[in-house]
Amino acid sequence: MNLNYALPQREDLLVRGLLCGEEILYCLPYDLNERGSYVDGYFIITKTRIILLCNGEIASEYKIKAGEDYLAEDLVSSGRIEGVFGGEVCVLAYYTMEHVPRYAYAQRILNELAVGEMPKIESIDDEKKCPKCGRAYLKRTKICPHCLSKISAFGKIAMVVKPSWYLYVIILVLFWCNSGVMLYQPLVNRYIVDRAILPMSSGTMPLSLPILVFYIALIAACNLAVSLIGVGRQYVTTEASSRLARDLKNMVYSKVQELSISYLDEQKTGNLMNRISRDTQRVQNFIQNIASQAVNEIFLLLGVLIALFLYNWKMAALAVLPIPLVVVFCGGVHDRMHKMYRNQWVKMDKLNSFLNDILNGIRVVKAFGQEERAIGQFQDDAESVRRLTTKTEHFYATLIPAIRFLMTLGSLMITFYGASLVLKERLSVGELLQFSTYASYLYGRLEWFSMLPRWMSEAANAIERIFEVLDHEPEITDEKNAVDADIKGNISMVNVTFGYKTYQPVVKNLSVDINHGEMIGLVGHSGAGKSTVINLLMRLYDADEGDIFIDGINIRNLSQASFKSQIGVVLQETFLFSGTILENIRYAKPEATIDEVIRAAKIANAHDFIVSFPNGYDTRVGERGQRLSGGERQRIAIARAVLTDPKILILDEATASVDTETEQLIQEALKRLIKGRTTIAIAHRLSTLKNADRIMVMDHGKLAEFGTHEALMQNEGIYYTLVMAQKKMSAIKAL
Ligand code: ADP
Repeated sequence: MNLNYALPQREDLLVRGLLCGEEILYCLPYDLNERGSYVDGYFIITKTRIILLCNGEIASEYKIKAGEDYLAEDLVSSGRIEGVFGGEVCVLAYYTMEHVPRYAYAQRILNELAVGEMPKIESIDDEKKCPKCGRAYLKRTKICPHCLSKISAFGKIAMVVKPSWYLYVIILVLFWCNSGVMLYQPLVNRYIVDRAILPMSSGTMPLSLPILVFYIALIAACNLAVSLIGVGRQYVTTEASSRLARDLKNMVYSKVQELSISYLDEQKTGNLMNRISRDTQRVQNFIQNIASQAVNEIFLLLGVLIALFLYNWKMAALAVLPIPLVVVFCGGVHDRMHKMYRNQWVKMDKLNSFLNDILNGIRVVKAFGQEERAIGQFQDDAESVRRLTTKTEHFYATLIPAIRFLMTLGSLMITFYGASLVLKERLSVGELLQFSTYASYLYGRLEWFSMLPRWMSEAANAIERIFEVLDHEPEITDEKNAVDADIKGNISMVNVTFGYKTYQPVVKNLSVDINHGEMIGLVGHSGAGKSTVINLLMRLYDADEGDIFIDGINIRNLSQASFKSQIGVVLQETFLFSGTILENIRYAKPEATIDEVIRAAKIANAHDFIVSFPNGYDTRVGERGQRLSGGERQRIAIARAVLTDPKILILDEATASVDTETEQLIQEALKRLIKGRTTIAIAHRLSTLKNADRIMVMDHGKLAEFGTHEALMQNEGIYYTLVMAQKKMSAIKAL
């Protein structure tokens, strides 16, 4: 993200004059004034000053150190940055949503400069607009449809089709034969007219049935050849395109598994599903129906042009006369066509994502009685897709006849000129017929090619969307010299700072040492950063600053596969895959024997309820385990964790949503599970942390307290307040 815009020349001179050699560190645009009208402004930050330029004039200047606090605030569809000067809040600038992340950085920069630190802030966030043309990217992509090179998009596909190259050679040969036969057919028609029908009807030749039969048989043979080639072509193109779709699907799917959570967080599930299924389908359709056809059309077009010009260049010139008109016409409407198509595509994508969201969250919709709203919203979106589709199709419905009409001008001219040549006996009727057939071939090809940009941009967008995922470098990868280590479970976090958005840290300067075998409770208010600490420990994200060490090895230098196989997780929201209980317990260790699974289930207090089902361990859990209760799901998750025998165990509010009896069963299971392992347990119910050796208290992303329950109670800090508040709540509930 650009944090240092270049000033226009005049403004640059103005500011440099004022700065007297002081360096501009950051320069951000702002585009609104306090009344919400658009302005052309720049927010300039030097080491000591803020200078505001508005519509080419210097609007104001502030000394950074005079500000006590700087805050970038999100408003409705806009934002503002303010500073506190002498206890008074002063709004410095207003800006549209586009600049909100930029000013979140500015807030950090100003607060650091205000306390005399020199900020080392580099933005890794991406712009939402194409840097080349300034147009918005396609939603949730970095694709600028305007700058997208179709050639490079199709070039990428070439790499994927390489292993099946021989199929494409067969397709080329078949099309070449097809074009040859199609070009030969009008010649046979001409011979029928000139060598059989006309001489026989004028009496210059006796009626000869064998000649007629011969030519008709020749036409039948041509038709048969075209049909046979068509069948062969269909077989081969289907084979080639389905292989391509399969390879693309596999590539995207494997890539999604490799990608970091931060990237997946940004993408909606529906969006990724669209790329795996819809976009690959589009590419398959394109290769099967359009690209292969294009080869045929090109062969035929070239063949027809050569035949026309060899035969009679004057008539050929008449035939191609409308082509420049068609090209100019198509060029004129191309941009509009492209835009209409893109709008339609964006709306359809939105509709699909919405549908995906709603189907995934259908229980929530029903629980809150929001069916009407969900239906209304879907209907609105479906209506706008309909409107846009109709608009595009109406446009095409007008465009195609217009092109056809332009081309009939050529036919009319040929008929007129050809007929005059026939009358002057410089051309035979059969030749005119042959020529007109070639001309109709030519116009057919042109009509087909006029549709090609639409099909191509549809396919190029799909290809780009697929390759955007494929080309994305996962943020979390194994270092070159990453090691497979058998860990004991000592954890050390050193000055760890992390934010999901780099400009908004949610874990700040966290340093903590945990010994192997210790049970650590992680508490704090909601949003304090507890889950984020866990995410960092599991290396779902990498820290922005600082390091995490496991047994003295930097987590970045541990191979992910080996590290993850030694971590066990029991999350609040247990996710079970549709399949049997056995498959779910075995998920992280597919090679586990039945005995191992049963032992794990017994430790997890799950065996008894599992065998009470008619199908025991083979009971299917339904989609996401919906046929099981929350407590049952959690005990299966515990069994899953037991089975992998992890050295580090992470429990996220594992007993949050179950009744007391089940909680007791789960607590028992957990007690057995945590024995001898380093355990970090997030808990809201502090009573569940009775077994904790030490407790980490997070507050606004910082480690506020760390120690034993007794020490923290004596301290009478945040932990003490939380415990007291919960005691009060329990007392009230008991009443
Ligand atoms: P806790 O577990 O203590 O409730 P979290 O670690 O989940 O807190 O969240 C800390 C902060 O990070 C919150 O402000 C939350 O909104 C934000 N946050 C959590 N997950 C994400 C995410 N995937 N993307 C962006 N922000 C997030």
